[in-house]
Amino acid sequence: MAGIAHNLRMVRERIHVAERKAGRTEDSVALLAVSKTQPLEAIREAAAAGQREFGESYVQEGCNKAQALVELGLVWHFIGPLQSNKTRQVARWFDWMHSVERLKIAQRLSEQRDASLPPLNVCIQVNVSGEESKSGVAPEEALALAREVELLPRIRLRGLMCIPEPSSDATLQRSRFAQLASLKRGIEQALGVTLDTLSMGMSDDLEAAISEGATIVRVGTAVFGSRAARSEE
Ligand SMILES: *Cc1c(COP(=O)(O)O)cnc(C)c1O
Repeated sequence: MAGIAHNLRMVRERIHVAERKAGRTEDSVALLAVSKTQPLEAIREAAAAGQREFGESYVQEGCNKAQALVELGLVWHFIGPLQSNKTRQVARWFDWMHSVERLKIAQRLSEQRDASLPPLNVCIQVNVSGEESKSGVAPEEALALAREVELLPRIRLRGLMCIPEPSSDATLQRSRFAQLASLKRGIEQALGVTLDTLSMGMSDDLEAAISEGATIVRVGTAVFGSRAARSEE
């Protein structure tokens, strides 16, 4: 676990280099530290090094961590698949939900979000690679879903998220991210809204994502080291 502060500095430097290369302002890209499967101690260490935003993929694990570390005032992002019987926990403990892919999930999150909390920040996950097994709405369905989600009272639609298939083909990788950026512009125009978030890019492809307009990169391995294998909840 040693070296999380060092890893964070390295990742922030990669982000800054990519921002400069893309002609973007410094700190236009936020770093989400993906702490799934990592112990509380690793999150405390990252927090002590100045990291505020953390991403979790499993409901029970994420809620337990958010609750255990509540005194640190961290910002929690849910980034994994979510079944409708677990929306209440996400509505209670998280500040962001990146992986909305069905209206029913968004409706439940809106209904269950307590009035004492700010609206839940939401991204719609888009399956840009068209892989059968991947989560996310098909690109051609994203606008219709965004139109409905935008109307929900306790939710704030912030933008789009994607997890393209891993690829060593830099051109293909960039084209997936460019597609998400273009889809966001289309939705903004069609709905007359501004969406400020493109959640895309991970440890291996954050540079490509930043060059195509990512505003949040979700980085696990490069911050915390490799994860133990874990089965779904
Ligand atoms: C695990 C995970 C990440 C982080 O992946 P790394 O390759 O470890 O950086 C990012 N996004 C999602 C949705 C994840 O589940």
